[in-house]
Amino acid sequence: METITLSPTPTSEVHLGARILVVEDETAIQELIALNLSQAGHEATLVGDAQEALERVRDSLPDLVLVDWMLPGMSGVDLVRRLRANERTRSVPIIMLTARVEEADKLLGLESGADDYITKPFSIRELNARIKAVLRRRAPQMTEDLAQFKGLTLDPGTHRVSAQGTEVDLGPTEFKLLHFFMTHPERVYSRTQILDHVWGDHVFIEERTVDVHIRRLRAALEPSGTDQLLQTVRGSGYRLTALP
Ligand code: CA
Repeated sequence: METITLSPTPTSEVHLGARILVVEDETAIQELIALNLSQAGHEATLVGDAQEALERVRDSLPDLVLVDWMLPGMSGVDLVRRLRANERTRSVPIIMLTARVEEADKLLGLESGADDYITKPFSIRELNARIKAVLRRRAPQMTEDLAQFKGLTLDPGTHRVSAQGTEVDLGPTEFKLLHFFMTHPERVYSRTQILDHVWGDHVFIEERTVDVHIRRLRAALEPSGTDQLLQTVRGSGYRLTALP
């Protein structure tokens, strides 16, 4: 058995309900998972096969996908490969569910690109713990973990931000924007990617909206000099970097 990675700070919770796509053909298991996900504060979308899953993902990118291995038509493993091969869905967190217990199968599941693997029958506690661990690893902006970067500290629990020890007052969008950058530093994000991550996927907002909020964020950080950490990368987008 693989050990479950639990949070280093036990009080830290995944605070936003994650939008979870459940791909499972057995209705009873689908319903059991859906019930428990909603009790854990998540929002579940249920589909019965891989084709339908791909259609849903095309409409809107979920925060996490739970995929059963054995599906009618395209298998769960092939679905994971398809999601990983596509630029837009490449980094979506995926947990595979399976009745298979063979070690070789487990390896194949992980090699196909799943982040984690749960063997049926599983307890709801295990499912919730693994969802939390995968979200923490793959989507840290969805957790309440304290984010720190250079002189910046952001506390999602209290919604407070400080720069060089001084509190900074941010609007909700600037807060989310900064949280995203602080949990994904040193990487360039295009305006489209920023819209997907911060505003939500497939939200029809003009790209220059991103520039407007970046400008506001920089203005708020300017007195502390930390605005310098948020770089414009010409022709590409924006990046939070320790080496301005
Ligand atoms: Ca199945």
